[in-house]
Amino acid sequence: MEQLKVGIVGCAGRMGRMLAQVVDDTEDCALAGGTEHEGAAALGRDLGELAGIGARGLAVGSDPAALFAACDAVIDFTTPAALPVHAGLAGDSGTIYVVGTTGLGPEHEAALAHAAAGAPVVQAANMSLGVNLLLALVEQVSAALGPDYDIEVLEMHHRHKVDAPSGTALALGRAAAAGRGVELGEVLQRVRDGVTGPRRAGDIGFATLRGGDVAGEHSVIFAGEGERLELTHKAGTREIFARGAVRAALWCSGKPAGRYTMRDVLGLAGG
Ligand code: NAD
Repeated sequence: MEQLKVGIVGCAGRMGRMLAQVVDDTEDCALAGGTEHEGAAALGRDLGELAGIGARGLAVGSDPAALFAACDAVIDFTTPAALPVHAGLAGDSGTIYVVGTTGLGPEHEAALAHAAAGAPVVQAANMSLGVNLLLALVEQVSAALGPDYDIEVLEMHHRHKVDAPSGTALALGRAAAAGRGVELGEVLQRVRDGVTGPRRAGDIGFATLRGGDVAGEHSVIFAGEGERLELTHKAGTREIFARGAVRAALWCSGKPAGRYTMRDVLGLAGG
């Protein structure tokens, strides 16, 4: 099989550097280039050196159009503000587009739809196998336990994370809400502060912890009378997200344009 040429936008970031390592380490992939935003300190540096894998003869660029044109797949773990340009280029060029950026809102849907009209697109707030299994389990447990069990989602991430609750925590909340047949927006309780009054029945609450170098920890707590069920996932390394993203890019190879999920990629039931 010919190697899939993979580009990385945001290649100097924490995930970008990890992605470069994993792409380079994956037999069916070839590291084909990377970009950073205009003015970034990493511009012109060797992508491999930046990722700690030794020089690869690929200079970090600032022209995403050239990257999309040169690659079979582009992986995007950057910022929500960068998404429209990247998604536009994916849709126009037909280049496989894998998006892990979190903090996306409804305003990004049109850009993702444009991308998916012209290219295979996988977007997920969490690309690990364990978390995607957890999402399926949470929906199942929520349906089985019913409304007598209060649902709380607790997450912890490293001190640099800029959005809260995490995209994964919100996805877990959506899965719990789906198990009860409600929309998360109707029952969402993002923060509690001061005199809040008693817990409103049916709410799904969130609590956010930040600190150190924690790669990502999520618990969904089902608290009933006399018992509590907790489902927890702990990411030990960012590599699991990068491996999931690269797996998604390879899975998209040869697929028609369209929007796919990690459930599709991982072949999980109900996908
Ligand atoms: P980071 O700040 O270390 O990296 C982001 C990089 O993107 C930076 O190097 C930045 O300069 C670059 N960037 C910003 N705008 C750009 C542009 N227009 N063009 C090119 N590059 C640009 O952050 P991080 O910890 O690597 O996380 C990045 C994103 O990935 C966050 O949204 C985070 O929540 C998300 N994330 C998702 C998963 C997942 O599994 N889906 C896992 C971990 C992190």
